[in-house]
Amino acid sequence: MTEQYELFAIRYASRSAHRAEHFIGGDPHDGPMPMDYFVWVAKNENRAVVIDIGFTEESGGKRGRKLERCPIESLALVGVDPADVKDVILTHMHYDHVGNFDKFPAAQFHLQEPEMHYAVGRHMRHRQLAKSFEPDDVCGIVRLNFDGRVRYHNGPANVVPGIDIVPTGGHSVGLQFAKVNTERGVVVLASDVTHFYENFETYRPFTTAYNVGDMLDAFDTLRAHAAAPELIVPGHDPLVMQRYPALSPDLKGIVVRLDVPPA
Ligand SMILES: [Zn+2]
Repeated sequence: MTEQYELFAIRYASRSAHRAEHFIGGDPHDGPMPMDYFVWVAKNENRAVVIDIGFTEESGGKRGRKLERCPIESLALVGVDPADVKDVILTHMHYDHVGNFDKFPAAQFHLQEPEMHYAVGRHMRHRQLAKSFEPDDVCGIVRLNFDGRVRYHNGPANVVPGIDIVPTGGHSVGLQFAKVNTERGVVVLASDVTHFYENFETYRPFTTAYNVGDMLDAFDTLRAHAAAPELIVPGHDPLVMQRYPALSPDLKGIVVRLDVPPA
């Protein structure tokens, strides 16, 4: 029997940006298009699984990004103690998804193996690709592997009952998304497979790219894994905070429920 989860998006940072920054080829109607930063939590009576763990104050600061709240301390907002978390899914190794691994003393980290090969491989000599990675994070995850705490996957996999991962590549070589079984069906947590709704809806990939063809194919993969488009949740879109209900009135704009349908 598979299991169902409550599913939350926690917004830990935001930045102002313009439309042209988010689409390869720019955008003819340039204007403001801010970006949110999230971690996601799937929780039921048996366990909590954390999907991506945000950037650190230091790695964000280097890039002019400011934490609004610590993404890991924020897990308490959904009743999760990071010390109890046994499974963390890392969708990919960009700095804003893998800082803070040291705050999960009991977890194993699920990662597509090609992502690590990419992060330590020849392409990192190119600033254009390396700028999304933080060397200390990469080294830290190498160390975790030596401690037996990285679970490398090479393809789609089941992580725990009711939660699966599917690799797509494209934005980063070993990028994967997560599928979480909830009361409203299987939610496809796209992470950076589509930063915004608009990227996949209009087939215009985000500007940070390893392989544009794979990014475009990945939009089809998302759709193929979602029973309906409303089940796809983009990785950085402020609309997520608007479309889904806040966990409680005081957490408006901070925590939304993804296990109930969007408005
Ligand atoms: Zn990314």
